[in-house]
Amino acid sequence: MIPYGKQNISQADIDAVVNTLKSDFLTQGPQVPEFESAIASYCGANFAIAASNATACLHLACLALDVGVGDRIWTSPISFVASSNCALYCGGEVDFVDVEPESGLMCTVALRNKLEQAKKLNCLPKVVIPVHLTGQSCDMLQIAELAKHYNFKIIEDASHAIGATYLQASVGKCQYSDICVFSFHPVKIITTGEGGVATTNCKKLAKKLSHLRSHGITKDPTLINDKNQGSWYYEQMALGFNYRMTDLQATLGSSQLTRLDSFVSRRNQLASRYKQLLKGLPLSCVNIHTENYSSYHLFIILLDDSTKRRAVFEHLKENGIGVNVHYIPIYWQPYYQALGFEKGYCKSAEHFYESIITLPLYPELQTHEQDKVIEQLKACL
Ligand SMILES: *Cc1c(COP(=O)(O)O)cnc(C)c1O
Repeated sequence: MIPYGKQNISQADIDAVVNTLKSDFLTQGPQVPEFESAIASYCGANFAIAASNATACLHLACLALDVGVGDRIWTSPISFVASSNCALYCGGEVDFVDVEPESGLMCTVALRNKLEQAKKLNCLPKVVIPVHLTGQSCDMLQIAELAKHYNFKIIEDASHAIGATYLQASVGKCQYSDICVFSFHPVKIITTGEGGVATTNCKKLAKKLSHLRSHGITKDPTLINDKNQGSWYYEQMALGFNYRMTDLQATLGSSQLTRLDSFVSRRNQLASRYKQLLKGLPLSCVNIHTENYSSYHLFIILLDDSTKRRAVFEHLKENGIGVNVHYIPIYWQPYYQALGFEKGYCKSAEHFYESIITLPLYPELQTHEQDKVIEQLKACL
């Protein structure tokens, strides 16, 4: 089976992790801050905070932005459930903004209209979480303008998008957002096994993120209430979590990061080859906006005739092609249906979902494997 995504692990990655295994620290050692500063400098952000996974980063990001009971958080329905679950963890209320039909990205026209309505009804969101689906940035310039006008905060869910650029700048630079979150799950662009990072330019947010990641405990003498204590002393200031990344994970991350640009360029090369070879078939490829260089986490095709999706999907699976679907609209999940969402809520998202198939794409994918994917697609279309 050709999988839809796959990690790339080199001997250098293995050697680096073995070195850390033999070192004094498996966690809370020097590797995590080193990885954090490497990510911050790669992205051009002031701060990077590593955590156990991107879901934890999204949760921490909501908490750092003071999302609490009754606060409204808007995100895209075409995403992994973590993009909206993070708000529910904090007692927030989630709502969904419809997507662009050709890219599956949050639609800024739909966002503007929804904000206008919400203003009239006095129910504006506190935070909006745009999702950089497949590895291309949403229209952050527009979203940031709306954020100023309607006074909401922005968390970028860039789980797919490390190594991507928007208007020539790295995703993660946080020029148009408060916090940006990356995932390092093995199917993503680079991996730490499990892991995530949140970047920000705001010192106060960075402090909150790192504090909440480790039980809400501090040893920082400037923050401690009782100054007249020994050097063992610590205080818990907030209800935090154990969301720490280990040094083993961070070591793998730092080693992977040195190959990030080559991974993304190989993904782009394979993606343009797909586009070339798919010409003439009754389908389209996810549209990449001109201001973006995509990291191509996913290669999604949209079938012209969505009634054929199931048969095409099963044909490919039966013939050794590990296709997937990204994503089922979040609010179609039984958990969200029970919260009161109904099918038909975001028309473009549902149409997008019904016509999509994710084809295999990862740096080690061979051109003869790609040819096999095309051949099988042609056979059933
Ligand atoms: C993978 C993913 C997440 C969650 O990442 P984890 O590191 O597995 O917690 C969140 N949002 C999106 C869009 C993702 O693809």
